[in-house]
Amino acid sequence: MSEPLLQVQDVRKNYGPIEVLHGVSLSVGKGEVFAIIGPNGAGKTTMFRVMTGEVGSNGGSIRFNGEDVTRLPAHERVRRGFGRTFQVARVFHDFTVLDNVIVAIEARRRHTKEPLGPWRRCAPSEEVRAEALALLADLKLDALAGQGARFLSHGDKKRLEFAIALAGRPTVLMLDEPTAGMSPSDRADIARLVSRIQQERGITVVMTEHDMDVVFGLANRIMVMNYGEVVATGTVDEVRADPKVREVYLGKE
Ligand code: ATP
Repeated sequence: MSEPLLQVQDVRKNYGPIEVLHGVSLSVGKGEVFAIIGPNGAGKTTMFRVMTGEVGSNGGSIRFNGEDVTRLPAHERVRRGFGRTFQVARVFHDFTVLDNVIVAIEARRRHTKEPLGPWRRCAPSEEVRAEALALLADLKLDALAGQGARFLSHGDKKRLEFAIALAGRPTVLMLDEPTAGMSPSDRADIARLVSRIQQERGITVVMTEHDMDVVFGLANRIMVMNYGEVVATGTVDEVRADPKVREVYLGKE
């Protein structure tokens, strides 16, 4: 593994009186694609929410880029380089595709104190607009720039969510089931996109995913969870060969 970027140590999480994460640890190296897999209810999404700061933990620690972020709220983690997509894509449905990305770029510029450029009435600067259009072109959404986001297909909406996340210039991109509910061709397209993002932009990727073809095709390392615990962590080959993993998860194939 390369130099660690994200280190989670012994994280516990309760929902009410019930503990759903029983001391989970993981370490993700810079530039890696790290996948968390496991059956429904294993705790993958809860791990995601704890790592991004959407919910607090009841024990353990999270370090990012050498800094202890355990107690930082989600927006502070975004400022430090967390990007995120959701199981069901979250975009501003009443905005155009272009405006969704412009808003995300302006939010980043405000946080990083980059100049927003001269404003005319309520229009964004040419610089922001150009950056948004370049990002849309990169994600093959430029032809849809003027379209209302609510009219996008499932695959295009997911691509727009990626564009919004990338507008924040993240160091780590957290993808919660990026291909959920997609057609096989959209799934393959999103897998190619994730691979390209990692290779061209050097972004570290942490993902949960149920589609094993996507996971085995993308991940450098995989962590398998079951009942809120880690069953195994290793390379694709190590995990595939692990009898415990076959029993709890892959054995069903
Ligand atoms: P899936 O693959 O179905 O998305 P998962 O591995 O992501 O599942 P989680 O959604 O993290 O699993 O759920 C882990 C456990 O925590 C489950 O038993 C679930 O019922 C419980 N749980 C999740 N969210 C909450 C919540 N907000 N309140 C109470 N219990 C919850």
